[in-house]
Amino acid sequence: RIAYVNGRYLPLSQAQVHIEDRGYQFADGVYEVVPLYRGRLLDEDPHLDRFDYSLRELQIAPPMSRAALKLVLRELVRRNGLSDALLYFQATRGVAPRDHKFPAKTKTAFVATMRRSRPPSAKQIEEGVSVMTTRDIRWERCDIKSLNLLPNLLAKQQATVAGVFEAWLVDDDDNITEGSSTNAWIVTSDGKLVTHDAGAAILNGITRQRVIKLMEGEGLTFEQRAFSREEAMRAREAFLSSSSSFVLPITRIDGKPVGEGKPGPMTRRLREIYVAAALEAPVV
Ligand code: PMP
Repeated sequence: RIAYVNGRYLPLSQAQVHIEDRGYQFADGVYEVVPLYRGRLLDEDPHLDRFDYSLRELQIAPPMSRAALKLVLRELVRRNGLSDALLYFQATRGVAPRDHKFPAKTKTAFVATMRRSRPPSAKQIEEGVSVMTTRDIRWERCDIKSLNLLPNLLAKQQATVAGVFEAWLVDDDDNITEGSSTNAWIVTSDGKLVTHDAGAAILNGITRQRVIKLMEGEGLTFEQRAFSREEAMRAREAFLSSSSSFVLPITRIDGKPVGEGKPGPMTRRLREIYVAAALEAPVV
């Protein structure tokens, strides 16, 4: 595997960063994950827009121009020779002696890696997955895709120990914000598609945004608003969305079957049109 590290392409085993990189010491940086699906980069520009947004919110200088970044991603795809993969890249405030305040002068550090994707299995897509709920203990800027992921890791670990696919995070008002690394959706008992509104409480997923566009194209009505755990427990359908899982049905929440315990028609339709739209992207 080949990585890109501050200007150079290197075998992953030789790729190194400084131990006083603020990403390492403070998680002072942001990242993105862009899916490569059958040789196509999915929603590259929206991912780069969100990357710019995260950088701006943290006052980190962009590591390079958008055109240069696109070249790096294409070169990584070429050098790694994969066609179904996840491209990971991160930028940090750079290297400086450890001190909380922003260093006066640093150069943004940038690394990118790539690995084969591990999409959900056919069984998971056909039968759906289970989720559990747990408290959302994150901060008030979940809209920034920052490297600080400890609450997300703790939630995912809880889910793993419980033998379920994902943890849905519940805020102080008993509303589901999102999953530890996915956005959360339900179809209510009266047939409305609902997902939490984009704001500081969630990461506005690129897959989430794509699904919203596709729904608009299908003339489906949906609501972006908070929904409670209780409402989710009564939902007809539930699913999650993310760059690595696309649209994935959820058939159990905290052990209780969602609807009839099978992936619902809306979820199946959305997955189908998501994949169809993905295949319309140009091969890089
Ligand atoms: N929420 C969180 C907290 C995430 O980490 C992710 C994945 N990066 C998502 C939602 C889904 O976002 P996307 O569709 O852009 O992968």
